[in-house]
Amino acid sequence: ESLLNDYGREDKVLVSVRIRPTNSHSAWDRSATMNRSVKLQPQYAKSTATPPQEFHFDEVLTGSENKPIYNAVARSHVCAAMDGYNSVIFAYGQTASGKTFTLSGSEEQPGIIPRAMKDVFAYIRRTSTREYLLRCSYIEIYNETIYDLLASPSSSAAQPVQIHGNGIMLPLREEVVTSLKSVKEVLERGEGNRRTASTDWNERSSRSHSVFRLVIESRERGGDEGESAPSGRQTPGFRPPTPGGPRLQARGGKSVQTSVLSLIDLAGSEKATSDKERTREGKYINTSLLTLGSVIGTLAENAAKNKKLVVLYDHVPYRNSKLTRMLQPSLSGNARISVICTINPDPNAVTESTSTLLFAQRIK
Ligand code: ADP
Ligand code: MG
Repeated sequence: ESLLNDYGREDKVLVSVRIRPTNSHSAWDRSATMNRSVKLQPQYAKSTATPPQEFHFDEVLTGSENKPIYNAVARSHVCAAMDGYNSVIFAYGQTASGKTFTLSGSEEQPGIIPRAMKDVFAYIRRTSTREYLLRCSYIEIYNETIYDLLASPSSSAAQPVQIHGNGIMLPLREEVVTSLKSVKEVLERGEGNRRTASTDWNERSSRSHSVFRLVIESRERGGDEGESAPSGRQTPGFRPPTPGGPRLQARGGKSVQTSVLSLIDLAGSEKATSDKERTREGKYINTSLLTLGSVIGTLAENAAKNKKLVVLYDHVPYRNSKLTRMLQPSLSGNARISVICTINPDPNAVTESTSTLLFAQRIK
């Protein structure tokens, strides 16, 4: 049974919009429909913006349930990662629009991260022909500095993580995880360190990117040492090596497959409000979100060109920010990318919501 849906195969970049519920009745509730478009009503846009602007995305989602969100915009990416493809899922939006709710969720409404991990372990349990090694890391990027949230707070403060050639990060703690419980412990430890490291938790969490990475390594099981498993005994979903496809390497005669699943809660996309932010943090955040937009936009364009067999590729500006440099190995090649743009329906947020929709449109 293959869990990949159409998106997993066809679209390099899946762009969706999630509009969180509001208590007050808002125009967004009516304009956001399940038909993959969002109408920006003129009364909520700048007075000049008539007629209503309409935006189209792969998915437009509303409501407080995290399960349908996971199924629509994350599940196939998680399965692709298990099948050997690098996959990246981003939550983008202004502060309080629902990024953390979407990725981490709550006790009653687990978000994408816990649901993904549950699927990962379920996938491993029913794949008897391969054995897996899972390692996770948890980092925060703040003012263009990478902090390891799994290192003890004292050492992480002393030693920021550096990106070396090929996106390798050092020093970086990678914890081997064998169960949902162990992942939960790792996440809680990371969250704890993140809180300890900041004097103003709310401020810092909205101004930094947090990245949860799962490295998935697997190899065929069985047979004697040095003997590869006979063909015809492949895992459902296992695909033979193809150029640009899953990374496979022979090790001891058995094919080893490595892929990375990255789940990213981006810094708030809102414009800087104070002078301090404008001069320092705001500048960094805008630069890295802008770079992310150009990188994903260029990747989507290049993928479209590829479909039409045009071989003139645009340069992808990975090097302009730590986030994109770190993600370069995951984003290049045959990666699966899902960007969930979260929207706060409050009429007062319309300027930021509009800029989120424009970002989403630009990367599609
Ligand atoms: P962000 O991470 O973008 O700053 P949060 O995820 O923290 O935003 O969301 C802000 C508040 O709104 C939180 O209290 C969160 O529980 C709530 N919230 C966000 N999205 C939803 C949703 N879809 N349904 C119900 N509550 C939500
Ligand atoms: Mg948040």
